[in-house]
Amino acid sequence: MYKKIILYFLFTTAVFGCGKPLYRDSEFIMGTFVEVASTDPRAKAIVFDEFKRLQKAFDMFDEQSELSRLNKTGELTASEDLFFVLKKAREFYGLTEGAFDVTVAPVSILWKRAITRSELPVVEAIEDALYLVGFDGVYLDEDTRQVKLLKMGAMIDLGGIAKGYAVDKAITMLKKAQVSSAIVNAGGNIYCLGPNGRKAWRVGIQDPRVSKNLSARIELIDKAVATSGDYEQFFTFQNKRYSHIIDPKTGYPADSGVISATIVADDAMTADVLSTSIVVLGLQKGRRLLKNFPGVSGKVVDVQDKVHDL
Ligand code: ADP
Ligand code: MG
Repeated sequence: MYKKIILYFLFTTAVFGCGKPLYRDSEFIMGTFVEVASTDPRAKAIVFDEFKRLQKAFDMFDEQSELSRLNKTGELTASEDLFFVLKKAREFYGLTEGAFDVTVAPVSILWKRAITRSELPVVEAIEDALYLVGFDGVYLDEDTRQVKLLKMGAMIDLGGIAKGYAVDKAITMLKKAQVSSAIVNAGGNIYCLGPNGRKAWRVGIQDPRVSKNLSARIELIDKAVATSGDYEQFFTFQNKRYSHIIDPKTGYPADSGVISATIVADDAMTADVLSTSIVVLGLQKGRRLLKNFPGVSGKVVDVQDKVHDL
């Protein structure tokens, strides 16, 4: 019985409104569906505009983006957004002892291709790519916002942090416009602004293996929740699942025993990064990591579909 309930505990899309009518809309931005619900009809445009602005900075597959320019030339005076995210990425790299590493791009690109084609990358390609990975190879100058990738061919992938950051920035813009109640969901990175009427926002959580099942709900006000896991982007080869979350130590998809992690935090970027990191680190190291984040809580699902509190 317990197992049944907890099995459902993961992932996120449904929102349950109450009280006044909610204006809801979604758009595909930054490689994911961005959903907004609010009693304020202005909210959706504010959120979508902010996401589109940040997409131009952070999308590694858009050749015109600021990030692509950095990846191509290895050097750039960064915008405030890009510089802030890189600084945060460096902080998380330290705190996770390298499990969260945005320089994983040369490897993550190989695996993204592998997922699309359903075939494993060749070992030599992984080894060559792995040589370029490591945030120690990124130079950040705080005064001038200059960024340098010290290894030729090194690249940055912000897929594990950009959506969370964009949610936080969108929420900041909503607050500036005096929107006092809204929920934003960018592909499982959620922030609940204010109460929903007189109640908390209720976020539905899906079973990681049976995506149609929706059962558990958590109630949040002025909090973020994010889920990462191997159930959305993966492929199966000889009965093994390969996900899009990479262990930067091995160059292979995370294989920590944790298949999915859900984190509740005060901001969406922290929830985004920690959920991804804990899939790499596993349960024990994940718990140790969370000791650095008072007030942050979470749950993980392991390979046996067991749920653990963090
Ligand atoms: P999603 O993008 O599905 O929401 P996550 O938030 O867990 O999932 O982020 C996974 C993405 O982060 C990958 O698609 C990749 O772009 C990037 N990534 C993969 N492994 C790592 C890692 N170890 N550290 C930082 N970023 C990673
Ligand atoms: Mg994430």
